[in-house]
Amino acid sequence: MYWENELETLDRKNLEHLQVSRLKKTIQSATNSAYYGNLYRLMGLSADSIKSVSDIRKLPFTTKQNLRDNFPYGFLGLPQKELIRLHSSSGTTGNPTVIFHNRHDIDSWANLMARSLFCAGVRDTDVFQNICGYGLFTGGLGFQYGIERLGCLSIPAGAGNSPRQIKLMQDYGTTVIHAIPSYLNRLFEVFQEEGLDPRKDTKLHTFVIGAEPHTEEQRQRIEEMFGVKAYNSFGLSEMNGPGVAFECTYQNGLHIWEDAYIIEIINPDTLEPVADGEVGELVMTTLDREAMPLIRYRTRDLTRILPGDCPCGRTHVRLDRITGRSDDMFIVKGCNVFPMQIEGVLMKIAEVGADYLITLDTINGSDEMIIEVEVKKDWFNGDITRLDKLSRLISGQIRDEVLVKPIVKLVEPGSLPKSEGKAVRVKELRKALNS
Ligand code: AMP
Ligand code: ZN
Repeated sequence: MYWENELETLDRKNLEHLQVSRLKKTIQSATNSAYYGNLYRLMGLSADSIKSVSDIRKLPFTTKQNLRDNFPYGFLGLPQKELIRLHSSSGTTGNPTVIFHNRHDIDSWANLMARSLFCAGVRDTDVFQNICGYGLFTGGLGFQYGIERLGCLSIPAGAGNSPRQIKLMQDYGTTVIHAIPSYLNRLFEVFQEEGLDPRKDTKLHTFVIGAEPHTEEQRQRIEEMFGVKAYNSFGLSEMNGPGVAFECTYQNGLHIWEDAYIIEIINPDTLEPVADGEVGELVMTTLDREAMPLIRYRTRDLTRILPGDCPCGRTHVRLDRITGRSDDMFIVKGCNVFPMQIEGVLMKIAEVGADYLITLDTINGSDEMIIEVEVKKDWFNGDITRLDKLSRLISGQIRDEVLVKPIVKLVEPGSLPKSEGKAVRVKELRKALNS
């Protein structure tokens, strides 16, 4: 079953045909913006440069820096009076990234979101609690419009206040939740503190989790704790937000909606396409956005296209779980490490609790990786020998995975600092890098 059968199951030839005609239209609107207008004029590029999907490679990439340098209106393809909403990133490291939408864009996004939820098995009979900030962050309103378009009963709960979230679930019989994965671990602890078991004391059957990197092990943990299916949702504000790529009920990668986006996977160093199925940086072009089209946007997210067809019948390619961003990687003692490699090890260890924090520091002149790991309540009982054994086990397993032996510190459940939104996994304190 599909939400938009004709679009979700187009054969490759017709899909590419649609992509080419939408790309030409996108280039035309982009040319109305100050940024693309100047650039394409200088390079002699126009919609006529495109005859096939692969002709997209004639166009230059767009980067986050380009967005920042032309903040706020440089990428607008429409006059301001046509706009109805903006969303933006926090901008802690410079100008925020802002995306503008007209009525068409909001409508198209709501459809993509409804399609995504339907694809993950959500139906209009569900009661959907959206545990997400409703401000400039796209996870709030982005989901809200999709939930309503699909016809579920929506509970726009917003983020935080776990006891209240649990009460809402119980009062209204919530069946589906959208939240970031790091929060769900915390939510489970609150269920336990209140003497409740989500399997017995709620009607939950589906979670939609995303907005931050997480491992397959993390997903399995969440599914087991709550007794629900958890589907991976990927998106980024520059491409609207959520509703870009979603898992179907086969949970075998994320269908990325190719009628709305052209995707490429490139080698971030050479900027050339990678071989089929290889991991690289995801590059995306909007195909159905009028106010602020983006062409060949370098997302920095690392993934690959999975081979083969999906048994669900959707023809849009599937992305592998995003393993992180090219700028997430850190180097310690000469080894390249991604935080998700460490999470993968930790989440397989039963005694490990909800949270962890990686700190990189200089100790006695040498680079060290210190990992604070919350331990489950019944383990944190002062039995030093048992804790010592566990910390050695964790340290050894991480060394086997990333080739660097960390200093592991086991801490009490709930003791690590919680961030308001997406989890902060790495703290950089090394002097050489800070000076
Ligand atoms: P924002 O634009 O602030 O919503 O952040 C978007 C970024 O969050 C993406 O570029 C990814 O790096 C990350 N992200 C979003 N969804 C996922 C997901 N399902 N898995 C891994 N990373 C994700
Ligand atoms: Zn599928």
